[in-house]
Amino acid sequence: MSERNRYDEIIAKLEQYSYEYYALDMPTVEDAVYDKLLHELIALEEKHPDWVTSDSPSQRIGGEVLEGFTKVAHKTPMLSLANAFNEQDLLDFDRRVREKVGDDREYMCELKIDGLAVSLEYDAGRYKRGATRGDGTVGEDITANLRTIRSVPMKLKRDFSIEVRGEAFMPKESFKKLNEKREEEGLVLFANPRNAAAGSLRQLDTKIAASRNLDIFLYAVADFGEMGVAKHSEGLDMLGELGLRTNKEREVCRTMDEVFAYIKKWTEKRTSLSYDIDGIVIKVNDLAQQNELGARVKTPRWAIAYKFPAEEVETTLLDIELSVGRTGVVTPTAILNPVQVAGTTVGRASLHNEDLIHEKDIRIGDTVVIKKAGDIIPEVIRSIKENRTGSEEPFQMPKVCPDCGSELVRLEDEVALRCINPKCKAQIKEGLIHFVSRNAMNIDGLGEKVITQLFSHQLISDVADLFSLSKEKLLELERMGEKSVSNLLASIEASKQNSLERLLFGLGIRHVGEKAARTLALEFDTMDALRQADKETLQNTADIGEKMADSIVTYFENEEVHELLAELKSYGVNMAYTGPRLSEEDTEDLVFSGKKVVLTGKLEKLTRDEAKSLIMKLGGDVSSSVSKKTDIVVAGSDAGSKLEKANELGIPVWSEEELMEYLPDEGEL
Ligand code: NAD
Repeated sequence: MSERNRYDEIIAKLEQYSYEYYALDMPTVEDAVYDKLLHELIALEEKHPDWVTSDSPSQRIGGEVLEGFTKVAHKTPMLSLANAFNEQDLLDFDRRVREKVGDDREYMCELKIDGLAVSLEYDAGRYKRGATRGDGTVGEDITANLRTIRSVPMKLKRDFSIEVRGEAFMPKESFKKLNEKREEEGLVLFANPRNAAAGSLRQLDTKIAASRNLDIFLYAVADFGEMGVAKHSEGLDMLGELGLRTNKEREVCRTMDEVFAYIKKWTEKRTSLSYDIDGIVIKVNDLAQQNELGARVKTPRWAIAYKFPAEEVETTLLDIELSVGRTGVVTPTAILNPVQVAGTTVGRASLHNEDLIHEKDIRIGDTVVIKKAGDIIPEVIRSIKENRTGSEEPFQMPKVCPDCGSELVRLEDEVALRCINPKCKAQIKEGLIHFVSRNAMNIDGLGEKVITQLFSHQLISDVADLFSLSKEKLLELERMGEKSVSNLLASIEASKQNSLERLLFGLGIRHVGEKAARTLALEFDTMDALRQADKETLQNTADIGEKMADSIVTYFENEEVHELLAELKSYGVNMAYTGPRLSEEDTEDLVFSGKKVVLTGKLEKLTRDEAKSLIMKLGGDVSSSVSKKTDIVVAGSDAGSKLEKANELGIPVWSEEELMEYLPDEGEL
């Protein structure tokens, strides 16, 4: 093939991959494949500068604006970053910087969050608009979707009119849960948290973004100069002071050795983070020097992104096991010869569905390459055909459920095979594991092993039976002593008082997730009222769409469900909402809307209860301990460990005076 033909071929491929990645949020190849092709393209362009046109993938910032979204023109372009893959690339970058600005330079090193770049506009301190990067010049208006991110403040602590930039992302845990749910629902999985975050924010339906637990780190201002700071590091500190979430792992480095040490530290520690990073960004810290260095078409000259090498490991696929999930989806799992990948030993990896196994031609006995998607979920990427000896066996999905033997079906639009027998034991068992889980009925002491034993001893056959368990029966089980039995019984007893939403979520009604369960409980108040609601009434409820309404109606039409609920009631399980009442609509524009706030220290002017009710009035939820989920800490005098923890986690801290500014007219609290 001539160089020119190869060049055209690469362009066609890159355009196709970019479209799948940026527009569909569903890449079909690994990033490394894309990066390698892009490198080959750039090498060819260096050799033949006259071939380069302004729409070459080397000159364009990936994204494109989807139909259906309003376009937003960025005040200053949102650029991409040049890449470095090794120390030499970084030393070359440093040399170029020093040639221009001299040896007196320092770098801000930051984690490269694997999400999507967004901009947030504040007008006199109030959140006005949010947009995607798009093609760098024009992005998509996703104001409403970004508002659903709890850490995006609706109001800044000062009346600044600024455009802030940052990375919206999906934490690893949310990514894992989302893909597990999608697998259960027979839907195509997201390749990584980045695509999942982008897919969530680029939805016309805000409910979807709201359900995805996204988060954000802000790392720049369109024009830092406007804030009167001289250094990027000072700008970031100021963003924190304004109440915007910044990443606390940043470090200013004065030498390249310090930069390399930072990279080494995070290459080793990255798996311990709750979000995915794909590299380290190194930025010239002095803003005047940044200006002096300027930008190329697509990337600034004052920053570079060091990309972590993708950790891929080879091992043998020993067997393929089948498991039946809560909704009957039958999932094949690869049993692997255990190997270390990204910090943990991996012995199993979901193969998702039959189509994928055949597409990748994965056979039992193959040498396979595995990696962790989004650094968390082990995944079989491909098999190495050259290693085959001829003894490998192609995999055939069975026609019947591996547990109950009933025929498997493939529902319309789904990639998965399902067992639709409602009496299938495996499904009931999975349903029970869900019922007792932390976010559902929260019954401690009932792990998978105990539940398996309860089934094999025929002590339970459905969720209601849990409430009939006695001390004598439980003591028959392996490794259950007096103490663990009495703890378990106390936990079962306590769960009877749960507010309705926990029960609703625990019952596992299709499409009813945690958030929807809460909405339904708040709206209908009792199980009986919900049971009587027709489809139209349900659909008129905020956040409840047609699919969910259908599923709820169908669920309550089932005679067995009536029996189950009656049984639960007879055991004294609460069927009414007992949580706090605050509708989201009322609070959307309030300072603390959707935020988790913690009070600490001695307050001088307000009592604790007054402060609490003020925060709730302003749309916030008051919780007692500081965690990564906390958005704001209000600290009075003599605040101790909670304040320390807030500082450690980079959570914005308010004083009592700042809170007092929002005190309504007298007597309203
Ligand atoms: P990039 O992701 O390599 O780097 C630029 C981006 O880094 C910025 O736009 C910003 O969003 C982000 N970022 C994260 N943390 C940051 C921080 N602290 N400071 C500044 N920026 C930060 O560039 P890109 O143009 O967004 O995307 C290119 C990437 O997309 C490559 O990794 C490529 O492999 C991948 N890609 C993959 C496919 C595929 O088919 N697999 C297709 C197209 C692109």
